[in-house]
Amino acid sequence: MTNGKKDIRALTKDQLRAFFIDRGDKAFRGNQVYEWLWKKSAHSFEDMTNISLETRAMLEEHFVINHIKVDQMQRSSDGTIKNAVQLHDGLIVESVLIPTSTRTTACVSSQVGCSLDCKFCATARLKRMRNLNPDEIYDQVVAIDNESRLYYDKPLSNIVFMGMGEPLMNYNNVLKAIDKITSPEGLGMSPKRIVVSTSGVPKMIKKLADDDVKFKLAVSLHSAIDEVRTSIMPFNATFPLKDLREALEYWYAKTKKRITYEYVVWEGINDKRKDVDALVQFCKFAPSKVNLIEYNPIDDGEFQQADSKAIDMYQEVLEANHITVTVRRSRGKDIDAACGQLANKS
Ligand code: SAH
Repeated sequence: MTNGKKDIRALTKDQLRAFFIDRGDKAFRGNQVYEWLWKKSAHSFEDMTNISLETRAMLEEHFVINHIKVDQMQRSSDGTIKNAVQLHDGLIVESVLIPTSTRTTACVSSQVGCSLDCKFCATARLKRMRNLNPDEIYDQVVAIDNESRLYYDKPLSNIVFMGMGEPLMNYNNVLKAIDKITSPEGLGMSPKRIVVSTSGVPKMIKKLADDDVKFKLAVSLHSAIDEVRTSIMPFNATFPLKDLREALEYWYAKTKKRITYEYVVWEGINDKRKDVDALVQFCKFAPSKVNLIEYNPIDDGEFQQADSKAIDMYQEVLEANHITVTVRRSRGKDIDAACGQLANKS
């Protein structure tokens, strides 16, 4: 609510239709407005040119459209674009466009700040301020899609929930946003091109399986040894690996979908043979893929990316155990747009 006005995008299509019926208008008017709000991503009621002036004024009286505003856009030397996005209450989140020769990916935020406390992540230092609403997530995707068309002459092809926040701690809104993104009444994107990345909230992973979601799941593992994982991701003490593993087994049994693990190898933390062996053991219950991601320094030098020998060892041992492995290079480092660097520095 803003000045007693309701956020119109909090209404479902049926509620919007009912609103018009209650006022003696046609339900169809609700469909038209709904199309403006989502498919055409209108920023104001004025944009709704096939709706009468009278109706637009009436809508203006009752509702607001809390559209995000791209406050600042930065472009990296490698083509990565970072948006600082202003929300209706003045808070800022960041989203990133990552272009490659074959795809353009949007990396979007799900919360303002984050309630988790991963020691290596810049967003963790912001604390969680609030969850994003479905429309605020949707708008980030629309903004990136527009930039992709404008600067790279092609529509957005993929979305990863790897920006600020823990998507599974804003479960309902993230799923509602994905519903709109994949619906023909929204952006009509394939759920197969969407990855939700989680630090691993067991109960919510099981809920995803029960809800029969069609997007992909990635888990930020970083260590398969409890002691080590708790030292770098302290919430692991509350959600230990045994529970995570059990939830992932449940996920796999229900969805039969491969699980991707994100994993950074740090010097002196998880760069030994025993760390790789634990990872292999952890992965065994389902087809898995390990993304070895490059560490993006966030400041003090407490964490150091392990040398290439350690990465090679991981790669060899994983491959010998028939686990798919990719080594991923970071993008957008010069503008603090890489994984774990989103912290509203500006
Ligand atoms: N909370 C979710 C999504 C946001 S983090 C999650 O944990 O998955 C997105 C990815 O960036 C995660 O895999 C996270 O572990 C990784 N990450 C965080 N800080 C990083 C850093 N400094 N360098 C490289 N990757 C980092």
